[in-house]
Order: sequence, then C-alpha cells, then structure tokens
Amino acid sequence: MKTDPPDPRLHALVEGIVRIAGGDLSTRIPHSGARDDVAAVIAGINLMADDLQTIYQELEKRVESRTAMLREAQVELERMALRDPLTQLANRTALNSVLSHALAETSRGEMPPALLILDLDSFKGINDTLGHSAGDDVLRVVASRLQDAVRETDTVARLGGDEFAVMLPKSNLVRARRVANRILKALGESLEIGDLRVTCGTSIGVRIAEAGQSADELVMEADTAMYAAKAQPHSSIKVFEPALLYARRLQSVMITEMREAIRQDQLTLHYQPVVELATGRIEGVEALVRWCHPERGLLMPDQFIPLAEETGMIVDLGHWVLRNAVRQLRDWQQALNVDSSFNVRVNISTTELRNLELIEHVRDILRETGVDAANLVVELTESMAVNGGNVDKYSLTGLRRLGVKLEIDDFGTGYSSISYLRKLPVNVVKIDKSLIDGLGTDDEQGNFVGAVLHLIHACGLKAVAEGIETAEQARILTALGCASGQGYYFSRPVPAAEIESMLRLAE
Ligand code: C2E
Ligand code: MG
Ligand code: MG
Repeated sequence: MKTDPPDPRLHALVEGIVRIAGGDLSTRIPHSGARDDVAAVIAGINLMADDLQTIYQELEKRVESRTAMLREAQVELERMALRDPLTQLANRTALNSVLSHALAETSRGEMPPALLILDLDSFKGINDTLGHSAGDDVLRVVASRLQDAVRETDTVARLGGDEFAVMLPKSNLVRARRVANRILKALGESLEIGDLRVTCGTSIGVRIAEAGQSADELVMEADTAMYAAKAQPHSSIKVFEPALLYARRLQSVMITEMREAIRQDQLTLHYQPVVELATGRIEGVEALVRWCHPERGLLMPDQFIPLAEETGMIVDLGHWVLRNAVRQLRDWQQALNVDSSFNVRVNISTTELRNLELIEHVRDILRETGVDAANLVVELTESMAVNGGNVDKYSLTGLRRLGVKLEIDDFGTGYSSISYLRKLPVNVVKIDKSLIDGLGTDDEQGNFVGAVLHLIHACGLKAVAEGIETAEQARILTALGCASGQGYYFSRPVPAAEIESMLRLAE
C-alpha cells in the first residue's frame, strides 16, 4: 500500500510551536495560502502568537513603570531618612555620614574638616511668644541664610530644635572663623515673621577635627564649645579647647550634687523685706534661695537656677522652696505678732508652672501649715503670664482659685505689648530694677516710671518697685504713688533670724 508523503507544512508547524513555546513570540509560521485544516491551524497559531506578543509587551511596559515608581519611592525614602523635613537640610544621620567620610580622608593625609555647631539665642522666646508656626518660619529662614553663608561643598544640617551644624571639609581655623563670623552676621539681621520683625542671634562652637577622632567625638566637642559660647552674654563664637570639657564635666557633677543638696537640706532661704514706702513698715518678704555648697561656699541662684531649669530639677527645688518658705511664714505667724496681711513671696519658673503637680503641692503645703492662701504670693515672669499655653493657664487659674496671689516679676524687661496687662490674672506687678536705676539721676526716667505706675494702677493692679538702692529713689517712688518697694536701701536678703529681729523691733 502506498502512503502519502507527509505534508511539509506540518514540519514547519511543529517547529513554529516549539519556538513560540520557547518564548520567541515574534515567530510566525509560514502558510501556503491553501484553504484546508492545516492552513486554519497555522492561521490560528499565528493569531495566538500576535496576541501573546501584544500582552507580553504591555506587561513589560507595566513592569518597567512599576520598577521606576519603586525606585523613586526608595530614593524619596532615602532622602527623607537623611533630610530634616522642616528645613530640607541634612539631618543628624546625614551629617554623621559626611563627617565620617571627611575624617577617613583626614587619616589618609587630607586637611581636617571643621565642625560648627550653632544654637539660636532667642528662639525659645520667639516660639513661646509668637507660636510654633512662627517658630517654624524662623527655622526655615535661618536654614536658608546658613546655606547662603557657606559653599556648595559644605554641609549644613539641622540637629533638632534650634540646633544647627555646618561642616567645612578640608578646612582650617582661619577659614572656620571666617565662616562663623559670616553666619553671626547673617543671623544677626532681623527677619520678618508675618508683620513682625524679630532678631534671633546665635552662639557658635567651632572644632577643627584631629586625626583619629570619631564623628561622635567631634560633634561632642563642637557642642561643648557651643555651650561655652552660649554662656557669654551675646551672640558669640567659641573655639573648642580641652579645658571646656572639664567645665562640662563640672556641670554634670553639679547636677548630681544639686540632687543631693535638695535631699540633704543644703539649700537655704534668705528673705528680703518688701516695705510700705510711705511708712517703712515691712509688708512681707521675698524668699530667695541659696545653696550652702560644702566646698564652694554660698552659691547664689544665678549660679545654679539656670542649670536646675535646664535639667528639670527646678521642680524638686521649687517644691523645697515653697514648702520651707510657707513653713517659715507659719513659724513667724505663730511666734510673732505679724500683721494678718504679712505675706511671703516665692519665685517660680516656667518649668514649675508647667508641672501639673504644682497646684496639688501648693494646696498640700497650705493645708499642712494652716497658712491662708492669701498670704502666699507667687512671682512669675511677664512671658510666663502672657505667652503660656494651656497648661500654664490651667496652673495660673488653679493657683488663683486656691486664693494664692500672683505677681509679675521683673516687669519692664519683657518684650510683649503692654495691652495684655488688663487681661492678666495677676494682682501685683513688680517693676524691675532696671527701670528704677535711673531714678534720681535722670529726670526723664521719673516721668517714665510715673507713666508705668499710672498704667499699672489703671489696670486695677498694685505696684512694687524692686532694686531700690538709695533714699532718693525711695522718695521719688513714694511721690509717684508707688505703694511698696524692695531693695538694698531697706535691706539685703537676709537669713530668717534677721527678719525675725526686724519684725520684733517693729512690734
Ligand atoms: P528676682 O526674683 O528678681 O529677685 C531679686 C534679685 O535682686 C535678688 O537676687 C535680690 O538679691 C536682688 N536685689 C534685691 N534688691 C536689690 C538691690 O537693691 N540692688 C541689687 N543690685 N540687687 C537687688 P538673687 O537672690 O541673686 O536672685 C536672683 C534671681 O534668681 C531672682 O530674681 C529670681 O529670679 C531667681 N530666684 C531666686 N530664688 C529663686 C527660687 O527659689 N526659685 C526660682 N525659680 N528662682 C529663684
Ligand atoms: Mg522675684
Ligand atoms: Mg525681679
């Protein structure tokens, strides 16, 4: 029997299917134009290959675009991890990485990098007075001024809060100082926030890296220099020197010692009389804390209160002061024939006011001693009374509800508008020594203080003048209608026993 030879198209068909299945989607099977079953299968498979090819191409395009999106997201994530979101400057991580790189180059013989660390001088005040969004604006302006003050190859970073850093690669002290001075000048210029103009100086610590240093060490030393710069009265630059490390260590020793001091009653209160100007009668006293340091002798508040505030220890210290001042008042009330309005004034700081236990604490002490709340005057600064947030308002209202009197201390040194005086929940305003100083030597100052007194009285508040040092100042203030005064002219702050003698003399 004779068999037909195989259809040659079948061979091409099988070969085509194998290639398509193998992934070569551009393969097409040739067809002869005949109209039979084999031709139909070939046409069908070619159509399928067309479709597959289109689908595959679309899929490839989609994969490509997804990959691009993923890559962008990854770049953005990396950027976010290295950028400060508010200012778009490098962040601490980014700074550390450029520092490490520069330090590695130094160890290979390149010139060392210089690191400048800056802290804005009056940022906290601006933030408290004008609000956080104004604070953010200030930080953004500072960031762009910093960037303008340095070269492209330098790194400007924000380390957090109002702390910035500038890294100058391959630098030296002369150049670092020049850049630091340029920054001081740039940041010293006022900036516009809304319709206000504010100035925000800065303190700069400078450290030129030494071979073998780690990035962390470099940052710590530049930071130490910055703290030393900050301790100076105005915007200034401080270059790191090893002695500064010692001062910093001393500070941390002092923190430990202060904790002990509170526990072991090394603190003591001195009291300064507040007198009725017309008669010289002692109306009350202000409690002023001192620290009897076992080695360094009697320390004044400005030697340890700022550190106590910075570290939060002021809360414990403040509790100690309140407790002891009110107990002392009770002792005087019991032992002497003091006037029923005789009061004790206690200074409290912002941190204490923000501590929600303050009211509880005051209430407990008053209850424990049986002292009438009206005989306790709490002194706070202008900015605390004016700019505080909700917690401060809560604390102030709470204290007033207890019946405690509130007094604005150091009035005239703040920078707020005076129209707030009418709205404040306070009873007394203490005019700062700086306004009293010129009395008796400068006639204009008399008119000025007179106007301030009018203003205070017009708001229904009482006035006390502080820092009265001469009889003439006391006389002028009496003539101007100021009811009460305090100052070295009457008495310096003295131990409780001396107040007791004064009160006995007056009995
Ligand atoms: P302050 O509350 O304004 O107290 C007045 C300061 O001026 C006291 O200094 C006082 O000795 C001084 N002073 C009084 N009269 C005169 C005068 O006629 N001439 C001069 N030159 N000075 C006078 P001190 O005791 O060194 O206290 C300084 C500051 O430390 C206080 O200013 C107050 O803000 C703060 N402070 C004192 N004790 C405490 C406290 O227990 N807690 C808190 N948070 N702060 C306190
Ligand atoms: Mg005071
Ligand atoms: Mg004062």
